[in-house]
Amino acid sequence: KTTRPLPSRPNVNALFGEVRVVRSKQRPRHILVTGGAGFLGSHLCERLLKAGHTVICVDNFSTGLERNIRHLRNFDRFSVLKHDVIHPIDIEVDEIYNLACPASPPHYQADPVHTMKTCVLGALNLLELAARTGARIFQASTSEIYGDPLVHPQVEGYWGNVNSFGPRSCYDEGKRSAETLFFDFNKKHHVEIKVARIFNTYGPHMRPDDGRVVSNFIVQALKGQDITIYGDGSQTRSFCFVNDLIDGFQQLMATEPSFTGPVNLGNPVEFTILELAEMVIQMTGSRSKTIRNPLPTDDPRQRRPDISLARRELGWQPMVPLATGLEKTIHYFDRLLAEEAHELAE
Ligand code: NAD
Ligand code: UDP
Repeated sequence: KTTRPLPSRPNVNALFGEVRVVRSKQRPRHILVTGGAGFLGSHLCERLLKAGHTVICVDNFSTGLERNIRHLRNFDRFSVLKHDVIHPIDIEVDEIYNLACPASPPHYQADPVHTMKTCVLGALNLLELAARTGARIFQASTSEIYGDPLVHPQVEGYWGNVNSFGPRSCYDEGKRSAETLFFDFNKKHHVEIKVARIFNTYGPHMRPDDGRVVSNFIVQALKGQDITIYGDGSQTRSFCFVNDLIDGFQQLMATEPSFTGPVNLGNPVEFTILELAEMVIQMTGSRSKTIRNPLPTDDPRQRRPDISLARRELGWQPMVPLATGLEKTIHYFDRLLAEEAHELAE
């Protein structure tokens, strides 16, 4: 076990002071969650079911997993529809959360044309459903809207620095076009929209082969494999624990119709990738070594959300420090890998 101290950062409460969390009692609704079998979607479905709503999970299971939603099948208010959002869908709903889209670079780059279709046609199909049913609709937009940002931390008013034809463009430009569609449906057809720009989020229900940095490092550390640092590891990200993010989704969805966003949702405490690797190695007690791999093309140098707008309009800020969230995530992967090893041995 290494004895190096963990990189220390103030938590967000120390940075900004306590926020008032407003939770209103709401009537049960019929809610469509696209991408509901994915990492974020499965947590959202669970939260909505526990709040008494009826939830329809729509997913093509490209990166989503049955395992993520198996425990929800006990709710008779939960149903699952295997469907690709690039095709229209027609069901009666009061609310829509549009999360369908691979979020990890290796996954969204594997079939870039399909990723673009998912972002753009998916948004269009769901906005048309919202227009027909009068449903309020949430869009899982992204910090990738800002590309490799020249403004730091990123505020919603910043238009971004995005390559239109690089390996990340199918996702970045797809999500930008989706935002455009959301705001045009709001203006032209008075659809009630809520656009969240999500920053790097991690936690249980990520796939072991997801490919994003937190799951890669934890799985590599637990398996005693080399920890793959892309580039020199000095690039930064700000990591939000999934439970905090889902609070933000619900608080955004509960705002007045006049508040559309876009609003940043993420943890404003920033770490270098090397610091993250050190934390994971220390917390897992792993003997893994770090190795350097090439930095992917157009990899953003730094990223940190300015969450002033979310604090003001939603009364939201993340509460879970990175070390606490990592502990829960390490525990999740530890159990998952043990289960997988057990299944293989049988
Ligand atoms: P994920 O890959 O775990 O989940 C995406 C889900 O969408 C999967 O269940 C997948 O099978 C499904 N899906 C993909 N394409 C589909 C299609 N065409 N039709 C139907 N279902 C489809 O990713 P995640 O981290 O849970 O991300 C969820 C959403 O949040 C995505 O829209 C992503 O862009 C956005 N987001 C996530 C983060 C993050 O840090 N997790 C950051 C920014 C934005
Ligand atoms: N990264 C890394 N090793 C990995 C996976 C990712 O060093 O095994 C780096 C990646 O180059 C990026 C950061 O970690 O600088 C975050 O990558 P991730 O894919 O998680 O998210 P995104 O780049 O979309 O923010």
